[in-house]
This record gives sequence, C-alpha cells and structure tokens, in this order.
Amino acid sequence: MANTMLAVRFYEPGNLKAEQVSVPEPEPGELIVKNSVTLTCGTDVKMYKRGHPLAKPPQIMGHEFAGTVSAVGKGVTKFSVGMKVVAANSGPCNQCFYCLLHQPNLCERLDENLIGFTWPGTYAEYVRLPERIVRQNTFQVPDGVPLQNVASLEPLACVVHGWELTRRFPTGGTAVIIGGGPIGLLHAQLARLNGARQVTLCDVVSDRLKEAERVGVDVTINSSSEDIASRVRELTDGRGADVVVEAVGRLETWDAAPTLARKGGTVLLFGGCPSGTITSFEAEKMHYGELHVQGTFHHTPSSVERAFRLIVSGRVSIKPLISHEMPLERAEEALQLMGSGKALKVALLPPTK
Ligand SMILES: [Zn+2]
Ligand SMILES: [Zn+2]
Repeated sequence: MANTMLAVRFYEPGNLKAEQVSVPEPEPGELIVKNSVTLTCGTDVKMYKRGHPLAKPPQIMGHEFAGTVSAVGKGVTKFSVGMKVVAANSGPCNQCFYCLLHQPNLCERLDENLIGFTWPGTYAEYVRLPERIVRQNTFQVPDGVPLQNVASLEPLACVVHGWELTRRFPTGGTAVIIGGGPIGLLHAQLARLNGARQVTLCDVVSDRLKEAERVGVDVTINSSSEDIASRVRELTDGRGADVVVEAVGRLETWDAAPTLARKGGTVLLFGGCPSGTITSFEAEKMHYGELHVQGTFHHTPSSVERAFRLIVSGRVSIKPLISHEMPLERAEEALQLMGSGKALKVALLPPTK
C-alpha cells in the first residue's frame, strides 16, 4: 500500500482542497477500507457552503461510501481483507441516557466519531472506520450488488427511521412528499413500501418531477406554477394527506407541511433548517385536528440494517438518485452542481491505482 493518498479536505466555507495525505492505519477494532465510490450528500453541500459546527478544518469531507477492506485492526473477527463492505457514518455508544432509553439516534456521544465531521471522511482513497461503527453499522456487501447503490446506506437509514416514527399511517393511505431531491425520492419509495396507495411529490424543478415518476410517484406537483394546497385537497377528497413529509429544509416548506395534512394525520419534518429558524403552526388545526407533528433525525442500528436489506434486495432503487459520475478530485465542482439543483447525487470515483 502506498503511504499517501488523495483526499478532499474542507478548509473553510467555499474552500476545498484535493491533496495528498497519509494513508490511515487501523487501531484495535477498526477497519481500513479502500474506497470504490463516495456519494455527495445534501449535508456535504451545506458544510461546503456554510461550514459545520462539528467539523474542525482541515477535515476530509464525505460520509457515504462503499469499498473493499484493505487492513483489519486487532480484535476484528467479522471482517477480513478483500471483503466488500459498506458502513453508516456513526455508531451509538449504548451507554448514555438516550441509548439506554432505546433512542440511539439521539446518542450523546454520536459526535465522537461522526465520519466526515469529527472523524476523517470518505472523500478519500482509503477510509478508516471507527470501532463503534465496525461493531454495529458495517455490513458485508453480497456479490452482484453495485457498491454505488449500497453507498447510499446512510440517507436511506435516516428515511427508514423517519417512517418508523409514522406509526399511524394507514394501508392504502395517501402521502405527500415535499422536495424531489435524493431524500424526497427515497421517502416516496418508503411511502409505497409502507402501503401508500397514492404518493404525491412536489418540487419547483420540473426535471426532478420526471425523476420522481421513475421511482413510482403517482402524482407530481410543480410548486412554482401550481398551488400545492388546492391540488392536495383535490387529491384527498378535501381532507388532506395521511402523511406529509418535509424533505427540503426551508422555513416556507416547514410552515406549509401541516396545512397539507388531514385531521389526525402525521407531518414528518425531515429537512434540516438553518439553526435559529423558528416555525409556526395553526394551533386550532393542531389541537382539534390532533395533528401528529414528528421531527426526525439520523438513524439507529436497526434502521441502518433495514436500509441495507432494502438496498440489497432491490426493493428500494437507488440508481435514479445518482445523476452524475466524476473523479474524486472534482468534488468541489460536484458539490456546486448539487447545490445549484442541477445534480441529484454525484458519484465520486477515487483513482484506481
Ligand atoms: Zn448523507
Ligand atoms: Zn449513547
């Protein structure tokens, strides 16, 4: 193995550098994985644009990837050199207040080894996986499953977790997804897997609406030219949807989401708004309509495992989420493209030496 590798590091908002850094070595319990593909994520775009409170520069960016084990730390028995693997971006501590309450997605020690933020990321030729992730959130990828597909394990795990919180969704129900980015396309598929009869997706970009049809969305609404609220009323006999998912992360869409849900329906608030954002709801609808407003964050080991099975079995299709492929050193351009809405996810390919 060479001593140095290509990595793309974040220095400050708007400033990434593709440069040579040392190849990592495994500590006990850890793995080193030769990276085959890493995907851009909306969170990476946010970090590139405005930085991230957890990331201390210079930090290797990225957290969605898959590859082949190239070195194994002491004590690791589940994995060996040459195995194809995929991993989530964190692993809970199993000891803190939240972990003991079975809410490991809220683990107080999640930040200790969050890949791409507090731990070197996946925009690199080799990725070092921390012990907690190796133990709980790493999987061997079966032959025949494209690594590019499993690389989206983390976002799908977050979406699966969100749907685990919408317990009152009726079979044959209606779902409205606000936002046609990669996350919205995953929510649309999860709605169907949870028994939705009618899945509607709204976005302002007409190309994204076409993409939504490819993953089986029934109705698309272009919210730049159509009134979402009246279309949703039309589609639901005037009641509103059983579940509304906000998958954009903007105040306007957070404010709009509860207005599209029926009485007793669920509003899943998935998209992260800039910190300090204050949203408001109509109290009457919330109270007399028994609206179930649910925030959702991150994933749990069980949602990661379910996401892995959904990808491997082909029940969730990932290909429509990946619009471009580029060499790793062009990561900055890829993030700009994604940030401008011209790309969904970009698959970044490390050099194959
Ligand atoms: Zn991600
Ligand atoms: Zn914990």
